[in-house]
Amino acid sequence: MTMSLDGWPLAEPYKTKMIEWIELLPAPQREAALRRAGYNPFKLLAQEVYIDLLTDSGTSAMSQEQWSALMRGDESYAGSLSFQELERAVRDVLGFPFVLPTHQGRAAEHVLFRALAHAGDLVANNLHFDTTKAHVLAAGATPVDLVVPEGEDPEGDFPFKGNIDLARLDALLRDEGDRVAVVMTTVTSNNNGGQPVSLENLRAASEIAHRHGRLFFLDAARFAENAYLIQQRERGQASRSVAEIAHDMMACADGCTMSAKKDPMVNIGGFVALRDEDLYRRLRDFGILYEGYATYGGLAGRDLAALAQGLREAVYEPHLRYRVAQVGALHQALKDCGVPVMSPAGGHGVYIDAGRMLDHLPRDVFPGWALSVEFYRERGIRCVEIGTVLAGRDPSSGEHDYPPLDLVRLAIPRRVYSQAQLAQVAEAARRILARRRDIAGYRFTYEPATLRHFAAEFAPLA
Ligand SMILES: *Cc1c(COP(=O)(O)O)cnc(C)c1O
Repeated sequence: MTMSLDGWPLAEPYKTKMIEWIELLPAPQREAALRRAGYNPFKLLAQEVYIDLLTDSGTSAMSQEQWSALMRGDESYAGSLSFQELERAVRDVLGFPFVLPTHQGRAAEHVLFRALAHAGDLVANNLHFDTTKAHVLAAGATPVDLVVPEGEDPEGDFPFKGNIDLARLDALLRDEGDRVAVVMTTVTSNNNGGQPVSLENLRAASEIAHRHGRLFFLDAARFAENAYLIQQRERGQASRSVAEIAHDMMACADGCTMSAKKDPMVNIGGFVALRDEDLYRRLRDFGILYEGYATYGGLAGRDLAALAQGLREAVYEPHLRYRVAQVGALHQALKDCGVPVMSPAGGHGVYIDAGRMLDHLPRDVFPGWALSVEFYRERGIRCVEIGTVLAGRDPSSGEHDYPPLDLVRLAIPRRVYSQAQLAQVAEAARRILARRRDIAGYRFTYEPATLRHFAAEFAPLA
């Protein structure tokens, strides 16, 4: 876990000004917490968790500049100073002249698809994130995933597994172009491990979409991590700044949706940013209907101020260098002790192939779920299954809708955990691996009809 940068051990590029105590409960109390929670990590209480890697969404630590911005928040209903700060930040960092704030990312998707997608339409994406897919469906349209084949291989070291398959995109637009409401690309691609999209691929996808007269949007939650990974991995980009690369990414697009709970490091917030004024006006009507007036969009003025500052900090290179190295160090540590992980390391977390790690468990007893429970049992670590339980049931057959892999995601909140704390995670994984044959599967004792993973309860099999 002491992976180095420039020959020196990896170290946080900030110091701590305010602390929050965390506690590792003794093993019998962890066992009792698991029983009470129905073996569902979502039902654990915050004080029962030692290291919380459930998500990187809304869990980042704000900087002193963000906290100061919060105190200066202007709560004017219309035209607030804090909204103007956000407009300037969106223009400076992303290059879009128009911004419509929303209370979080899925609300931005709601506004976008209500305005642009209709029954019978298609929406193309590299891989739709869950909420994006749900909002495309809610608009009566059909999501089409077009990630490159490398993106479905957990092992190969292809550097841009988030790329969209350009030939399939071109074919879709040629055959059914008039049904395609919008072409999107998710940067980084969350659903296959936080994998980046190359600048070359974004430019080509944009060119294809525009040649067919279609809009091209980015789902930009992790745009800065994507820009940093372009700088690190794409030929000809190494000497360019992340800020320049982020600008070039956005220059491909007619707009973006943003979950500001990710790279912009706020605890709540989102927006749609747009290049064209007419399109902005169309979306604004829906923004006002669903989120509130166009200069606050479901957020307090202070939230807008913290977001404006966080957006500027998102492209700060020492932060990104450390963050991506931290994720990479955990990925390497797990790999070194023989834990099967999705490679290469992505931007925001490490994904374990639980189906392979616990290959004595058939998929219908949920190896990913079992592994997520073991991380808590071993060391009070909370993480999330991204596998069969999450995928739910096929509505027509009623059978489990098996996804390609049973994964466990260790998502790393930004600026929160130290290298020493992540070393605890790596050691927990090593110990779980050593006793993996003793790990049992699970059966449902309570299975909700929709989004079952959040509220389900389980019992371990003997
Ligand atoms: C989190 C996320 C969203 C949804 O954002 P929320 O703020 O959680 O509503 C959309 N797209 C991607 C890629 C995300 O990671």
